[in-house]
Parts: sequence; structure tokens; C-alpha cells
Amino acid sequence: MDPVELSSKLIEFKSVTPKSSGSLEYIQKILKKNKFECHFLEFGKYKIKNLYALLKGGKGPTFCFAGHTDVVPPGDLNKWDSDPFKPKIENGKLYGRGASDMKTAIASFIIAAINFIEKENFNFNGTISLLLTSDEEGEAEHGTKSVIKWLKKEKQTVDFCLVGEPTNPNKLGEMIKIGRRGSVNFSLEINGEQGHVAYPEKADNPINHSIQVCKELSKPFDEGSKNFQPTKLVFTSVDTCNEVSNLIPGKVCIKFNVRFNDNFKSSEIIKIVNKRIKNITANYKLISKVSGESFINNSKIFTDSLMKSIKKITKIQPVLSTSGGTSDARFISQICPVLEFGLVGKTMHKTNEMVEIKNINKLTEIYFELLNDIFSKKFNT
Ligand SMILES: [Zn+2]
Repeated sequence: MDPVELSSKLIEFKSVTPKSSGSLEYIQKILKKNKFECHFLEFGKYKIKNLYALLKGGKGPTFCFAGHTDVVPPGDLNKWDSDPFKPKIENGKLYGRGASDMKTAIASFIIAAINFIEKENFNFNGTISLLLTSDEEGEAEHGTKSVIKWLKKEKQTVDFCLVGEPTNPNKLGEMIKIGRRGSVNFSLEINGEQGHVAYPEKADNPINHSIQVCKELSKPFDEGSKNFQPTKLVFTSVDTCNEVSNLIPGKVCIKFNVRFNDNFKSSEIIKIVNKRIKNITANYKLISKVSGESFINNSKIFTDSLMKSIKKITKIQPVLSTSGGTSDARFISQICPVLEFGLVGKTMHKTNEMVEIKNINKLTEIYFELLNDIFSKKFNT
């Protein structure tokens, strides 16, 4: 099978998050045929589907490719030029939901792995594994996060992991993600005492406190670190739900998100936020939800190997970046070094999502080179 054909086949599955809709089952069949040991894992009340497959060559390290077959909903179908779940090839481009994020990268690494194993006649120094989930675009509770717990419990080790998210802004080969910022969402309630707008002295206006609190919260956290931009707090909502004009409201609800670099743990961010609010008022309630800690890949062998493979195929020297949102790499980074590299992400989550066909083939070659390079090294594992 060729990677473009497999990409098209995967796009046909209507796997809107967190549904697999047959996509993981289909992949399992291909992997089983190619002698992979397959663990079909279901987690949570709704039995969210995941697949962990591996093939052991020799004693060396375990190299894992990770990705998600679930996609975001297509949105307004009238805005698409073709059916998002009927792959269309036109002018050297493959269109469909998941074309960029990230069914094509999955097709590329499956084909690269099978080709590599065949070339080596099953005799290579290590293990190749695939971690696939259908719960990345949504809550992501019963996807990779749960698979990592399972791997720990089963004492299955992974030494390197490549996540195939679309990391390139415009051109294949431009960018590797070597880490990500952490993220915490906050929901803050500043309380006061409601009253008549004509008698503010008889009320305690929480809006006045809120203005001060927002100012205090907006102060810089740091100046960035070696690999990361400065930690940043962004307000997403300030709300009193006040329908009338003659009432001083009793509370103000403020929502904000903090993206933090490797100078901080999420617990430290929460502490700082609390302290800043307390500098202004004690009358508040704060709820925080951690989406992920920041992480950075420290394996030079891995980064060099991926850079070399990318340069060989694309002739481009990739930039090492920690920009962007969170991904499943945050869970995988708990067990091994992780890098992210996939296709061009320009159209991800958009209507008429697409990738260039030639890039699917090139990505497959890059992944193949990467396996070649990693397994040609001597490890003391
Ligand atoms: Zn994705």
C-alpha cells in the first residue's frame, strides 16, 4: 500500500472526536498482517478506543510513533468545496478532514515502519511501536493520557517518541517542535456587595477590585528561558451578567489562561496567581484546571537524527520550536523524550483542509530515514 492511498482510506472514516468510527480497527488489521503485536485498549465510560502496537526486532531501544485518528467536526458543510469525508485529489493536493491534522502523518509512519521492517527482514536492533488514539481533539482524558498509564502499569518502555502533528507552518521541513509550554485555565470570582448605583458608598463594587486584580495579574512572570518565550497570561472573559443599569453587581467572573515555560511548574503558577489576587482582595474564589506541564526534549541523539533525516529529504534545516498549543506530547513526555514533526499545518481545523501529495511521500521518506538512523546507532540499553 502507498501512503497516499492509505491517507485517503483513513479520511473516509468519519472519526469525529472521540470516535474511532472504524479507523483504528482498520489500522489494526494492517498492522496485524505485518506481524505487529496489537493491544486494542478501551478506556472510560464510553469505551474510547486506542491502539498500541509493537514489533520487536532486537534488544535495542523502543521507538514509538504517536498520533490521533480523531478529527475536529467539519463545521458548515456548505463551506466545503467537497465532502470532508470523501477524499479528493486535485492539482497535486489531497483534500478532506484530517488531511493535515493528522491522518496523513499516521499513514506515512505506518508505511515507513512497514517498509523499514521489510528492508531489515525483521532483524533490526530494537522495537518499533505505534501509539494511536481517537481522543486527542476533545477532552483527551481517555486517549494518550490513559495509554501512558497502561504502558507504565504493563512495564512497557518507550525510549523515543515521534508525534506526527502538523508542525510546519508553510513548508515541509521547516519546523520541529522540541517541547511545549504548559497551560492552566483559571476561573476567578471576585466578590463584593451589590447595591444601588446612586449609593455606591453603601455597596462594595467588585468591578473596582477586578480592575486592580486584572492589572496585578497582567504583570510579567518572567523573561522567557533558553528554549521558551516568556510565560503569558491572557484574559478570555470578564463578566458581571448584569442586565440592568441601576445595580452595582455582587460579583465579577473573570476567566484567563496562563501558558508557562520551563521556569515554572503549574503549582507555582497557581501560587503566584493566588498571591497576586490576595494583594488586592481576600474576597474571591479561584478554580484552576491544569491542561499540561511544560516540557522539553533533552535527547540530542534524537533531535540530531530527526534533523538529519529532514535535511536529507527536504534540503531544509528545520527550526527547533516550542511555540503553539498543547498536544498529546505532554503526556508522552512523562515517559520518554518526545519530538513532534508532521506535515504542513496551514489548513488544519479549517474548511477544505488539505496537504500536498508530494509532501505525504516525502514525510514517509523522512520517517523511514529516521528509523534507519536511530536503529543504526549503538545504545547501551
Ligand atoms: Zn492534531
